[in-house]
Amino acid sequence: MLPLPIFEYHKPRTLAEATGLLAALGDKAMILAGGTDVLPNMKQGLFEPEHVVSIAALDELRGIGFTRDPGGLEHLVIGSGMRLSEIADSLLVTRVAPALAEAAGLVGGPHHRAMGTLGGNICLDTRCRYYNQTYFWRKALGFCLKKDGTACHVVKGGAKCVAAASNDSAPALMALDAELLLLGNTGERRVRAVDFYTADGIRNTVLRPGEIVVRATIPVVSGRRSAFEKLRKRGAIDFPLLSIAARIDRDPEKRIRAVDIVVSALGARPRRVRAAAKVAPGAAETGLAESLAAGAYAECKPLTNLDEEAEWRREMVPVLVKKAVARALG
Ligand SMILES: Cc1cc2nc3c(=O)[nH]c(=O)nc-3n(C[C@H](O)[C@H](O)[C@H](O)COP(=O)(O)OP(=O)(O)OC[C@H]3O[C@@H](n4cnc5c(N)ncnc54)[C@H](O)[C@@H]3O)c2cc1C
Ligand code: SF4
Repeated sequence: MLPLPIFEYHKPRTLAEATGLLAALGDKAMILAGGTDVLPNMKQGLFEPEHVVSIAALDELRGIGFTRDPGGLEHLVIGSGMRLSEIADSLLVTRVAPALAEAAGLVGGPHHRAMGTLGGNICLDTRCRYYNQTYFWRKALGFCLKKDGTACHVVKGGAKCVAAASNDSAPALMALDAELLLLGNTGERRVRAVDFYTADGIRNTVLRPGEIVVRATIPVVSGRRSAFEKLRKRGAIDFPLLSIAARIDRDPEKRIRAVDIVVSALGARPRRVRAAAKVAPGAAETGLAESLAAGAYAECKPLTNLDEEAEWRREMVPVLVKKAVARALG
């Protein structure tokens, strides 16, 4: 059993107190929500914060409901402190954003979903077969770019970390055109989920130091359906080897209006499939799943950053895209 290192624990009671504390502690502090990723990673020496700021008691991060924007468009609002099991079981999320409910319901095992939060999932550290190991294991390999070392073992000679985005909610939020509310000590900002992730495996989000993800807002669009599919070693517990979210919008005459597909667990940033954006309004539904599967196969090339053969993961891309599109088409 690996022991937790020593750190100072803080439990602010309000969001303002939390952002103030994070600003004051700077890079010595780390946010803890459900702790299902932070704590194992601290035990492996991947994170070494002197201070841990728990946001678990913040009521301002809780709740699932609806709101209307000034233009009259309805949005589903989900607090970042909501547990993944609550999101998976929510009738509101299941009705408006089935891809997100399905993604939340497929994260880890029951214990991870009971403790893990949406915010923690959105901000999950990227993963790599050479990085998510004990200190002893990593030291024997000479460490790597992402932590303590200077070389990448996936891309030999590579100057950039390509560890995989492994958060199942990310492709779902991107496909559903979600917006995230971020709050720091100096104010708030709204960032679309598609703009939140970057291609840098060392730090793959645009979150600034001390900022907290407060909530996700998903537009309620008539005629919209979505679905999520995931590849993993053991259906009962594992991280994704691939995760795929598909969204189909239809007009009132039930014709296709737009399609979006996001594939994740390839590199550091979940990838929007270009072939989906090219689907023209009014496109025929017959053969659509097959052509999008072929488009995704051509565009998506998994790296050797995760366990299991990259070639096999690639062969599974069209299989899962076809399933997700077929289910979203209903
Ligand atoms: C065995 C195992 C299997 C797992 N399987 C999966 C899986 O299949 N799919 C998957 O997606 N995840 C998986 N996980 C990872 C993890 O359980 C989930 O991603 C979970 O949702 C993380 O949420 P948390 O609240 O526990 O986050 P924490 O561990 O508390 O935090 C995770 C990261 O987010 C930051 N953070 C947390 N909340 C916020 C916030 N509101 N604003 C800003 N930063 C924040 C933390 O500082 C940290 O960097 C697995 C973990 C384990 C140990
Ligand atoms: S992709 Fe390379 S640099 Fe990034 S964690 Fe893996 S081995 Fe390290």
